[in-house]
Amino acid sequence: MQPDRTAELTRLLRTRILIMDGAMGTMVQQHKLSEADFRGAKSCGLHDHARDLRGDNDLLVLTQPDVIREIHDEYLKAGADVIETNTFSATSIAQADYGLEARAKDINFAAARIARECCDAWTARTPDKPRFVAGALGPTNRTASISPDVNDPGARNVTFDALAAAYTEAVEGLAEGGADLILVETVFDTLNAKAALFAIESYFDRIGRRLPVIVSGTITDASGRTLSGQTPEAFWNAVRHVRPLAVGLNCALGAALMRPYIEEIARVADTFVSCYPNAGLPNPMSDTGYDETPAQTSRLIQDFAQSGFVNIVGGCCGTTPEHIRAIADAVRSLPPRRVPEQESAETVA
Ligand SMILES: [Zn+2]
Repeated sequence: MQPDRTAELTRLLRTRILIMDGAMGTMVQQHKLSEADFRGAKSCGLHDHARDLRGDNDLLVLTQPDVIREIHDEYLKAGADVIETNTFSATSIAQADYGLEARAKDINFAAARIARECCDAWTARTPDKPRFVAGALGPTNRTASISPDVNDPGARNVTFDALAAAYTEAVEGLAEGGADLILVETVFDTLNAKAALFAIESYFDRIGRRLPVIVSGTITDASGRTLSGQTPEAFWNAVRHVRPLAVGLNCALGAALMRPYIEEIARVADTFVSCYPNAGLPNPMSDTGYDETPAQTSRLIQDFAQSGFVNIVGGCCGTTPEHIRAIADAVRSLPPRRVPEQESAETVA
């Protein structure tokens, strides 16, 4: 496990805006991998796996590690300070779709290892620009607080305890594999995120060590709320007890429509703010599924930086190394948001 780099990250975040990487899925798509590619070499033991595995991008850390390594390298070359592990759907709950729930911990461990190796190689080349591995925990494909059945509002397809157990295994793999921080991302249901945060905190308590945590929600429509119904301010209040290194928003609407919501987070959060939107709204007709060019996305994010909203910026779905390079260029000379002095969580509680 890595040492706790909170102090180093805090110092850096006060000095400049840190750059996160962009989409993994968009880049994997370009490799046009076949079912056989997803299964990998015979030694991966998935040759006669009963279900189709094509589309299980997280599995590639085991079966095509060089593809993932190459994508990480492209983002690091583009200027990313922080790269995300390829683990968005690597919980046992999400991997159950492929019959690979038993591989969840291995995937998280391998993903963190690969990202660690890439970061260390780049940091060795440019020691004045340390690189960090964010161990990513996605929301899973189930929601703990919303019914999947319109005729039965009380129905749930997952429990808090099941989510917490799945996240525990994932966070163990990420931390043991060498993540510098844990990123709970694309939070559409705050109860799912709370299960992740509970798993993380319990794990830290158990081993007697900690890593910094970032929590990133997603506003899914023009109501300005998460899928489970919270405004950005409510979302912050629901997660601030874990004292995250940063809180922010990612994915969903793209930067243009995200502006009022990231502004709201920036106003209320007494911690650093992160923001990594999609390359605009989805467009099924486009190659990557998204239309925004690097110039467009970077101009929007530059405005966030000029407005003093952000400390960490990057891209989500549809963004590429070119987007990240443009974003890094656009914010290079701009100061990071200053964290406002506010009442501490303890005194408010
Ligand atoms: Zn996204």
